Amino acid sequence: MSNIIDGKAVSAQVKERIRVETAKLKEQGIEVGLAVVIVGDDPASKVYVRNKKKACEEVGFTSYEYALPAETTEEELLDLVKKLNADKKVNGILVQLPLPKHLDDKVIINNILPEKDVDAFHPVNVGKIMIGDYSFLPCTPAGVMELIASTGTEIQGKECVVIGRSNIVGKPQAMLLLHKSGTVTICHSKTKNLKEVASRADILVAAVGKAKMITKDFIKEGAVVIDVGMNRDENGKLCGDVDFEDCKEKAGYITPVPGGVGPMTIAMLMQNTLTAAKQQNGL
Ligand code: NDP
Repeated sequence: MSNIIDGKAVSAQVKERIRVETAKLKEQGIEVGLAVVIVGDDPASKVYVRNKKKACEEVGFTSYEYALPAETTEEELLDLVKKLNADKKVNGILVQLPLPKHLDDKVIINNILPEKDVDAFHPVNVGKIMIGDYSFLPCTPAGVMELIASTGTEIQGKECVVIGRSNIVGKPQAMLLLHKSGTVTICHSKTKNLKEVASRADILVAAVGKAKMITKDFIKEGAVVIDVGMNRDENGKLCGDVDFEDCKEKAGYITPVPGGVGPMTIAMLMQNTLTAAKQQNGL
């Protein structure tokens, strides 16, 4: 029987650390502010924005929510981003993705000041992650690193396999594991013999977006298995990329979905916002 990694409990510890630090900043007259911009009414995005607002309340940040109509033009959105860039009360800016089709994510992200880009999506921050000289950690991969750390597993020298090579999860995940001296393999849809490669992993991170694709024959006995996937199964129930029931006996540690990586992503966003506020106040 493997150990189930409790993402809710780990994220509560991270948020508590942030809450204490935020309260101390308040005593010095520093308020931490996060602006969250949502365009249109994608239901999943609305849930994410609501959860981010709730997390801000928990840690003592002020959240500024901008809900714009789906027909917002690029010029209007860029005007708002520029206004937020200049606003001293706003330490972090998050534009909820995906944007409606007529808006170009890249143009918008590139116009957020890198020092307020708490999602770490701006090319400057992406480059910094690559060279290991970063202030903002990419939220989901950073959350994964906290979960691995919570198991007490040493990454150095371990075989690490990341399935998925997206810019927001797979690639930065591989970089963070590499910075910790893991031996990292990145797999994707063109990888041959995926089962064989994945089952070499001491640490396996699945970020594919395919419900329950990873079954026990993809994992090594005793491996740390982290499931980033957020999918719906055949009954419409939230599930990961890993078939939890099939893998839970074989894995050493495993994250559930929900209650694994998801809560960590928001906690790390709060961490980045706190870092931004400290940097902007010369601390
Ligand atoms: P993308 O769709 O951008 O990337 C998926 C990756 O999986 C691609 O690199 C793709 O390969 C690879 N892939 C697809 N099919 C296979 C296959 N059969 N075998 C091996 N690799 C495959 O997804 P994201 O990275 O954005 O997200 C991945 C999952 O994580 C989703 O379920 C998403 O909802 C979830 N997610 C969860 C978050 C959280 O907070 N818990 C945050 C962000 C994402 P290729 O490049 O060749 O196409």
